[in-house]
Amino acid sequence: MSRAYNFCAGPATLPEAVLRQAQEEMLDWRGTGMSVMEMSHRSDDFVAIAEAAEQDLRQLAGISDDYAVLFMQGGASSQFSTIPLNLLGDKGSADYVNTGIWSKKAIAEASRYADVNVVASAEANGFTSIPDQAVWQTGADAAYLHYTPNETIGGLEFDFVPDSGDVPLVADMSSTMLSRPLDVSKFGLIYAGAQKNIGPSGLVVVIIRKDLLGKARRETPTMMNYQVIADNGSMYNTPATYSWYLAGLVFKWLKAQGGVEAMAKINDRKARKLYDFIDGNDFYANPIEPRFRSWMNVPFTLAEDALNSEFLKGADARGLLNLKGHRSVGGMRASIYNAMPEAGVDALIDYMAEFAEEQA
Ligand code: PMP
Repeated sequence: MSRAYNFCAGPATLPEAVLRQAQEEMLDWRGTGMSVMEMSHRSDDFVAIAEAAEQDLRQLAGISDDYAVLFMQGGASSQFSTIPLNLLGDKGSADYVNTGIWSKKAIAEASRYADVNVVASAEANGFTSIPDQAVWQTGADAAYLHYTPNETIGGLEFDFVPDSGDVPLVADMSSTMLSRPLDVSKFGLIYAGAQKNIGPSGLVVVIIRKDLLGKARRETPTMMNYQVIADNGSMYNTPATYSWYLAGLVFKWLKAQGGVEAMAKINDRKARKLYDFIDGNDFYANPIEPRFRSWMNVPFTLAEDALNSEFLKGADARGLLNLKGHRSVGGMRASIYNAMPEAGVDALIDYMAEFAEEQA
């Protein structure tokens, strides 16, 4: 059996070495006679697995002791409501930047709890560019500023970290987490759904500055209260143990690759290759302003939409899977997260060149 190159935006491809290790350890984790899935989350073995995952993530992302790291459930979407419930405190409003579909979802959910002030929107330029921070209209009394560093569907990525002054900066890093180095100290809260660069879906990693804990509204569900989750080591209830373990294996794999600095070099190279090819070939196009092109999600269109299904069929036949763009934007999208080998990007470019040639 050979593995395909899976360009899905999420759940996304995982490192083959991680899957093989999980396979080897499946029936009998290190002589315990059971799989990690079957272990008590209170057992010494699982607690050690969980702690190692947290320590490895702290090391990879440079997370200081000023921050709590939480392994929560419900995906990134659950955080859209968890964040306002926990961070609004006695304030009634929050600032949000709208750069695409995921920003909009976060805004819609937060609007149930807060007066959302949209400080800037990329809607006017068709979500192809990020408004300069000089023109952002921040609110006078915002509890926090939320943005989406990488829009997974649009393929629009910030090339800067906004300056939010004393207002805590909150970032949905679902599709960019661990793709490049990050200065965590600039953020009040970072969250990332796991199914792109971290592990299985359902798990969501939350990195929160400790002074932001303990401000949850009274009606906040216990399972969504950051303070409760932090006080209980993310084990207030039964955590997603197997996903946590797999995330830990991914973190170990990342460290073995040389960490996020090494990944950034590879990711830059992979993305550059693909965009250079798209720009250099009249048959393909990507609409995003070059400086804001995503390293992780590369949407592109063919010269004629009528050729989309033929393109996808040919790609499937070569084991280049899940290239169909999101239904809201059409065209194609290649997600090239950390675990997508450079050879996968090369194979995609070869196929794209051949397909374009056939149409000429
Ligand atoms: N935010 C971003 C940027 C995403 O890409 C996604 C998922 N594609 C989500 C939020 C939602 O994640 P989940 O499905 O884990 O709730």
